[in-house]
Amino acid sequence: MPSPLLEAARAAYTQAFGLEPTILAQAPGRVELLGNHTDYNGGLVLATAIDRGTVIAGRPTPEREGQVHSTGFADPDRFDLEALEPGEPGTWGRYVRGVVWALRETHGPLQGGFQAAIAGDVPLGAGLSSSASLQAALALFLLKAGVAGQATDLDDPARMALAKLLRRGENEFVGVQSGLLDQFSVLFGRADMALSLDCRSLEYERLSLGTPPPAIVICDSKTSRRLADGMYNQRRAECERVVSFFQAKRGTEAVTWLRDLTVDELEEAWSQLDTIGRIRARHVLTENERVQQGAEALRAGDSARLGELMSDSHSSSRDDFGNSSSYLEALIESAEEAPGYLGGKLSGAGWAGCTVNLVDAAQADDFAEAVRHHYTKRTAIVPDVHICHAAAGASEL
Ligand code: ADP
Ligand code: MG
Repeated sequence: MPSPLLEAARAAYTQAFGLEPTILAQAPGRVELLGNHTDYNGGLVLATAIDRGTVIAGRPTPEREGQVHSTGFADPDRFDLEALEPGEPGTWGRYVRGVVWALRETHGPLQGGFQAAIAGDVPLGAGLSSSASLQAALALFLLKAGVAGQATDLDDPARMALAKLLRRGENEFVGVQSGLLDQFSVLFGRADMALSLDCRSLEYERLSLGTPPPAIVICDSKTSRRLADGMYNQRRAECERVVSFFQAKRGTEAVTWLRDLTVDELEEAWSQLDTIGRIRARHVLTENERVQQGAEALRAGDSARLGELMSDSHSSSRDDFGNSSSYLEALIESAEEAPGYLGGKLSGAGWAGCTVNLVDAAQADDFAEAVRHHYTKRTAIVPDVHICHAAAGASEL
């Protein structure tokens, strides 16, 4: 974790509360390398935690109250720990409150309250999961401060339990229906390692990205994600339609998600399926295969192959899943012309937001410069380009 962020959180705390913080915790953001729209279909994802994150600095207090400042927002948030209600309208603080609520639901009443300041450098709402980064950093802060649960060194089973708890905070308190991927990734990350997650069984594996590992360069198209929400729900419905078709054929016991189907089965039923649903499903099922192939490539130390699979994933998202845009295409075309490019794809929901690119680490600066130049020439928009590396998961500091 870069120390400027730590210093920013420390300084923000001291400015707001007039004391030095006694407890510090951090968590990274995350990016999906492969597995686009596979998570809610019970499928496979390859992700990594990144060296952008959130630091929380603060102190426990005797009052049963949370007081939180963020360097990213002008107004602080202040709330009674006992009076939290799921779905309450709120500002940025709803993710903070959701963590407190989920800890209380799981571990019982909190021991006193807290004062804290947050500093983060994960761009908000860009698909890099600033929300899970904030959630995990805050949870570790509250555990270490003795405000919630028991402070212990978190082993992997404890991290998985915490990921589920934080997901519950997001699903039930904030009201955002999301899978486990975000919270899992920010808790399980390791330096220079990717993470594979099976969203059906929750089996996972940490995989080395190689020596030297490639840089993970995230390019933000700077286009609005507002459209993406409606489209996201439409895609989920299109996937469910194909699941319903196979349930009618094979029974609801046998088919719960698209994951329960094979590419061969889909092809056999091709002519009976609606023309949209079947290509959406083809993307999801071939994407699961690409995740498996990507994991195999990493086990064999072949990160260049992972890059190719990411480019294949992008084509499948664009042609079958229909979640690219002219701006994301311009970003990918710009990357293809840039030095050191191993492969890249749209990430997250799609339609706007970011692409993720695997790039030879020694050429990452030149790559970033070239993408900025080409994308600006194509679209008259200056993109944000973040050169990142696979990073460690949430920890106390
Ligand atoms: P994403 O997770 O893709 O970045 P979300 O909309 O899921 O986008 O999460 C953004 C929300 O997370 C913010 O509205 C805020 O509630 C919370 N958040 C994340 N980082 C911070 C921060 N540094 N300070 C305050 N709130 C934050
Ligand atoms: Mg989020």
